[in-house]
Amino acid sequence: KEAIVERRIRPLDKTVVNRIAAGEVIIAPSNALKEMLENSIDAKSTAIEISIKDGGLKLLQITDDGSGINKDDLPLLCERFATSKLTKFEDLQSISTYGFRGEALASISHISHLSVVTKTSSDECAWKCYYLDGKLVPPPTGGSSEPRAVAGRDGTSIIVEDLFYNVPSRLRTLRSQSEEYARIVDVTSSYAIHTLNVGFSCKKQGTNKMDLVIRSGMSQKDRIRSIYGSGVANELMLVDVNTDLDIGLNKCHGYVTSCNYTNKKSIKPVFFINNRLVVCEPLKRAINQVYVTYLPKGHKPFMYLSLEIDPKNVDVNVHPTKREVRFLNEEEIIGRITSAIEEKLSSLDTSRTFLTQQ
Ligand code: ADP
Ligand code: MG
Repeated sequence: KEAIVERRIRPLDKTVVNRIAAGEVIIAPSNALKEMLENSIDAKSTAIEISIKDGGLKLLQITDDGSGINKDDLPLLCERFATSKLTKFEDLQSISTYGFRGEALASISHISHLSVVTKTSSDECAWKCYYLDGKLVPPPTGGSSEPRAVAGRDGTSIIVEDLFYNVPSRLRTLRSQSEEYARIVDVTSSYAIHTLNVGFSCKKQGTNKMDLVIRSGMSQKDRIRSIYGSGVANELMLVDVNTDLDIGLNKCHGYVTSCNYTNKKSIKPVFFINNRLVVCEPLKRAINQVYVTYLPKGHKPFMYLSLEIDPKNVDVNVHPTKREVRFLNEEEIIGRITSAIEEKLSSLDTSRTFLTQQ
């Protein structure tokens, strides 16, 4: 006979709730890395160094030279919905930082072993502390959970170890370590193209080979060259679309390759909307469509575009894992962009025929 199960409703244990929620916010190492990258950029860093072990599962370490974290704020650092960036709901409309929900580090602390070394410019020394499940905990070697004084430079280093150690189901859905690492380099590359005046580097821990090195002074073109090679960089066309406040398009700037660049292996488009890395399938499809008459069959251009859309026309209050955006007047805005590209392509095309005819 079947055992009789007691079917009474009970609240789940808080740590279970938090772990489930965290596993939904952070779905892969590259996801955690993106959140930490954004925190470093928000902290006005000019150099961001990333070190990775086992595709980010053993270690994700990100070190910046930004503002640092006030020692008194450290107990709150990994608390859910604790942030230094948003105070009132209305601020959501105008927020210029990446973060605002105070959710990332809290989530990560529920599904990894997280530690921090941080120093503000007014601190005499750096502070190191350890977190688990949102709270400060003693170091693995024992002792007090209070931050302790250590030597260190201005800025913050966040060390995430054993990501998903307590979420076996999430571990099973991940790709191979080398694929997860490739996605980390990919996300970092996208931010490196977009975020001028900030340097980025990424490597596997224990090796000296850098898989990405962008110095802070590099131009956008040089950043693209360093990441995708001269084949792409030598064929870039500047895209600048006229502002049209009526449709909420404040600005659109970027680069696409000319019809001289052919590549069957298409490079993932890099789109930023209001400084957030996003996926926008309709925009990608529309641009590819423009190239159909210019490129051999199956070949795709490289595209990097940064759009600034009236914040009230874009929903910024999106879930951290939701990268596909929607905005008002999407068709018109995409139309303006594709016309600008089409114009560039056709003017280059006529000048080329003109040259060959001479
Ligand atoms: P959010 O970015 O939404 O505020 P996070 O959980 O990502 O939430 O970070 C919580 C807070 O920790 C931030 O508001 C910020 O004050 C601080 N913080 C996180 N990372 C850094 C960093 N690299 N440098 C300085 N402060 C940081
Ligand atoms: Mg954040």
